Amino acid sequence: MEKLRIAVQKSGRLSEDSLKLLKECGIGVPAGNNQLKISTENFDAEILFLRDDDIPEYVQDGVADIGFVGENVVLEKNKETEIVERLGYGKCRLSIALPKGKKPKNIQALDGIKIATSYPIILQGWLKKNKLKADIHEISGSVEIAPRIGLADAICDLVSSGSTLFSNELYEYETILKSEAVLISGKNISKKRTALLEQLLFRIRSVKKAKYNKYVLLNAPNSSIEKICKYLPGINSPTIVPLAKEGWSSIHSVIGENDFWNVIEKIKSAGAEGILILPIEKIIE
Ligand code: ATP
Ligand code: ZN
Repeated sequence: MEKLRIAVQKSGRLSEDSLKLLKECGIGVPAGNNQLKISTENFDAEILFLRDDDIPEYVQDGVADIGFVGENVVLEKNKETEIVERLGYGKCRLSIALPKGKKPKNIQALDGIKIATSYPIILQGWLKKNKLKADIHEISGSVEIAPRIGLADAICDLVSSGSTLFSNELYEYETILKSEAVLISGKNISKKRTALLEQLLFRIRSVKKAKYNKYVLLNAPNSSIEKICKYLPGINSPTIVPLAKEGWSSIHSVIGENDFWNVIEKIKSAGAEGILILPIEKIIE
């Protein structure tokens, strides 16, 4: 029996969110396990727990069929894999950071400096694109201490809040990549496994859509229905149900997060009352 082999970071910043997403897709993984490989319930899949850096290579080589990994790692490892879905978590930036007090006027002023990083490939690509040369010093961990110990003039490292930079007297000077977790797949997956991947992708997209949208319920006088519905097109069309109170209706629809507060203000001034907003668990279209 062929199973879809899914690579997930064993323990780190992407582990919890990746397992949570799989769970929301109906692929439950028993918590707190310490195995390298486990079979899942309700879906023909096997989860492989790996270091994030190894995931692109394992997917390329067909040891795993797909993997949950940071885009930064995918680009740095540059293996034969394909990004099949962006996942919206694990957001961070790969940035060049400088010691406080050093304030080059523009990026051209970075020419010729020594930069410590764990991302030499991505950094080299960015330098080349900007017609800059720098002395790249590759180190695998604790990049942020490099300037203080005299190893480099600057660093290029992952940043999310910037607190690590701050405590090392560095500041973020230029972002060279915005990254998030992505799902990658190998290029030669069997038919059966491709079908399983399609099934998983369908579920992931339903979960993503649901997170992005909210269910909205409101009451309005019948004379306002037309105006309110213009702002709430819903998935197909809103549902309108008469209230027990004469001349009033309840409108049910779906509202996107993007323009959420604007739409709420508009429907309020169009006459909507008693507006309820509820989370949606899944959207199946
Ligand atoms: P492993 O032991 O698996 O090699 P690691 O220490 O290399 O783990 P983590 O620190 O767990 O990796 O980060 C995994 C991924 O999480 C990163 O590659 C990146 O995509 C994402 N990430 C999100 N925010 C941050 C951040 N502030 N710093 C580092 N990585 C982040
Ligand atoms: Zn790693």
